[in-house]
Amino acid sequence: MSDALIFGIVFIVFVVLRIVAATVFFLCLLPDGDRCPNCDTPTLRIQSRGWNLLMPWFRTSWCYACNWEGMLRNGPLSPQPHTQEQTRHDVKT
Ligand SMILES: [Zn+2]
Repeated sequence: MSDALIFGIVFIVFVVLRIVAATVFFLCLLPDGDRCPNCDTPTLRIQSRGWNLLMPWFRTSWCYACNWEGMLRNGPLSPQPHTQEQTRHDVKT
């Protein structure tokens, strides 16, 4: 085996390992759930054709409070606030 071939194999292995490590690192950085990473407000799920097609396991989100837009990991969702109709329904039953 020539030295150039060994160098090429080792170089490609290191490049692949760097890509895997960066992917895992940034995956761990993404917050889970539906809270905005800027202001901790519950975000709204939006439809992004490209991102949802490429990475359907992430939640494309938009924050209506600070206009943040990005992807979050799927996780526990914030409880929805009671609307007036739900409150009336709760009182009747
Ligand atoms: Zn926000």
